[in-house]
Amino acid sequence: MDIEDIQIYVETPDSPRLDPTKQMPSWILLITFMGTRKLSSNHVQYFKQLLGSESAVIDGVSKDASADLEAFNCDWLRKYRGHTKLVLRPKSTEEVSKIVKYCNDNMLAVVPQGGNTGLVGGSIPVFDEIIVSTARMNSIRSFDEMSGILVADAGCILEVVDQYLAGRSHIFPLDLGAKGSCHLGGNVSTNAGGLRLLRYGSLHGNVLGVEVVVPDGTIVDELSTLRKNNTGYDLKQLFIGAEGTIGIITGVSILCPQRPQAVNVAYLGLESFGKAQLAFREAKRHLSEILSAFELMDGISQELVERVAKKKPPLEGKHPFYCLIETSGSNKEHDDEKLEKYLEFVLSNDIISDGVLAQDETQVQSLWSWREGIPECLNHWGGVYKYDVSIPLPELYQLVDDTRERLSSAGLIGDDESLPVVGVVGYGHMGDSNLHLNVPTRRFDRDVEKELEPFVYEWIQKRNGSISAEHGLGIAKKPFIGYSRSRKMLDMMKDIKKLYDPNGIMNPYKYI
Ligand SMILES: Cc1cc2nc3c(=O)[nH]c(=O)nc-3n(C[C@H](O)[C@H](O)[C@H](O)COP(=O)(O)OP(=O)(O)OC[C@H]3O[C@@H](n4cnc5c(N)ncnc54)[C@H](O)[C@@H]3O)c2cc1C
Repeated sequence: MDIEDIQIYVETPDSPRLDPTKQMPSWILLITFMGTRKLSSNHVQYFKQLLGSESAVIDGVSKDASADLEAFNCDWLRKYRGHTKLVLRPKSTEEVSKIVKYCNDNMLAVVPQGGNTGLVGGSIPVFDEIIVSTARMNSIRSFDEMSGILVADAGCILEVVDQYLAGRSHIFPLDLGAKGSCHLGGNVSTNAGGLRLLRYGSLHGNVLGVEVVVPDGTIVDELSTLRKNNTGYDLKQLFIGAEGTIGIITGVSILCPQRPQAVNVAYLGLESFGKAQLAFREAKRHLSEILSAFELMDGISQELVERVAKKKPPLEGKHPFYCLIETSGSNKEHDDEKLEKYLEFVLSNDIISDGVLAQDETQVQSLWSWREGIPECLNHWGGVYKYDVSIPLPELYQLVDDTRERLSSAGLIGDDESLPVVGVVGYGHMGDSNLHLNVPTRRFDRDVEKELEPFVYEWIQKRNGSISAEHGLGIAKKPFIGYSRSRKMLDMMKDIKKLYDPNGIMNPYKYI
């Protein structure tokens, strides 16, 4: 769906209030008019003087720069398209501060952008907001091998930082499929969860401090390198998961664990979701402190990866469900013994139907690719409707079955090229009760969307789940926040937004 397809409801102080859980079909977007101004060539001139270097400004105001702007205006899913005419690529926190202050003084709207791998349209302008990219702010500021505390610029790429830490026997406490492109600032701003949250916990716990430029241009330096600091409100938490709505993160300090010396990966085939739950319960019992990931993939997700990536599956025969288990520890012999005992137990008790254990690093990577490769493979046909949700574990997969049933009954799903939906796929971080319900389609289609929304959100609300486990809300879930947050919580969020961003310049029109 292009942004032009969305019906826009502009909320002014006098408009009647819509109840997002009742009155809003998904394609209506509630936008509060912020009163921000249009960009002129005088503004662009200011930024050019400020940032000096040619490569720091992509100027589509005074000339046609559409080819250069394309990558910034379009999201990873190719679902959202913005119309920015100006991308600014500052090199320092001071430059970010001057940009933001000027924008605030001149009522110019800004969208912070990191690696642009977000999956909810948060990093894409809705109209022609200025994009402030962190791509050139990519220095590691310090790393203390004794405490494991890293301080780095927000624009550092996750994988680059992890490789830096690997050379110092440490690991970044977050790992995800987009690690080759996403930035630390984007990770913190989306409170990304990823593949090893089960082991290392959420960024709300690991981030020790942030450096942020708030909408009036002030630099808030809270780059604490302390694990303990009980001195009043823990305000850095406001920026973790804020999706760029109250400031631009320019630096992050984060606690990084020791890199495990022994990593094992097993890939299992199972006959039901019930058995996957048993396998998880037993994994916690047998592997406890060395369990670092427990991922679920349904049969169709693996069939589609096989079709698109054209590679040989790890197991002979087909299974309705697959799980990937990773252990990370400090003693290979000890971990091998534990994992072997676990595998013996689940096989002999008929919990799993088949399984394979990686024998070396190449096989570890290869087994992981069957899980990490899913998002990219599903993108192969044209588009994907993505729902990243938290559901109590016993009912986690039921949502996939119910959605498949619904789309089948509506006659929208099948191999016939004229039908929009390729399949309904479920996978995710089972160890965190986090399901990725994905609907790969041949094209984004209004009829499909009407079947999916608000159905999916109502289903989740009935089970007290969350409509966003880790990807955030961005613009995609703006109309649906009411399914997971009370009116009071929404009002408190709006109060915070108004307090720090009274002019509404910072990532406007998104979820808040
Ligand atoms: C293949 C694939 C796999 C993924 N797997 C996972 C996963 O397992 N878990 C998970 O949580 N996510 C996952 N994601 C989603 C995405 O990668 C994460 O949300 C990531 O953290 C976004 O980082 P980014 O730098 O690309 O941010 P962007 O996409 O550039 O931005 C995301 C949001 O953060 C804001 N933002 C960016 N930088 C800053 C900053 N410096 N200051 C303030 N606001 C900022 C933007 O305005 C936007 O609202 C996946 C994405 C892909 C494509």
